[in-house]
Amino acid sequence: MLLPIILHPDPRLRAPCAGVTSFDDGLRTLAADMTETMYAAPGLGLAAPQVGRALRLFVFDPWHLDDADGTRRPLVLANPEIVRSVGTQRLEEGCLSLPGIYEVIERAGSVVVRAQDGHGVPFERSFDGLAAFALQHELDHLDGILLIDRIVAKLRGRR
Ligand code: ZN
Repeated sequence: MLLPIILHPDPRLRAPCAGVTSFDDGLRTLAADMTETMYAAPGLGLAAPQVGRALRLFVFDPWHLDDADGTRRPLVLANPEIVRSVGTQRLEEGCLSLPGIYEVIERAGSVVVRAQDGHGVPFERSFDGLAAFALQHELDHLDGILLIDRIVAKLRGRR
């Protein structure tokens, strides 16, 4: 089911997100709906607060737009944490909750992330390039941080 994507300045984009504790059918339905909504948008990822759910959860597929055959490799990340980050990269960033806003932002070049899948099974995985970049954007959402905050920080000369 497609879910409505919440736009800035809706306060739900700023709400603190609770950790995912129950990995039940309700959670998997939410993740499936978020994945469908992400592909329909289309976007590289979609975080739970963007559909009005204050949970530390996002869905993610930074590869599908680049694949000539459109292969889909969706990931569900619950309670994600960056355990290591290396280097820096600058890419133009946008957000489904901020239509029409794009800006070059600096983020870590590669990251190792620890998370749980939709069944609560822990995993650790490394990402680099666009995938690492987009993943850091989705993690920001779980902390109520939006691209516009990164732009303001950049304009002030901070990262
Ligand atoms: Zn976003």
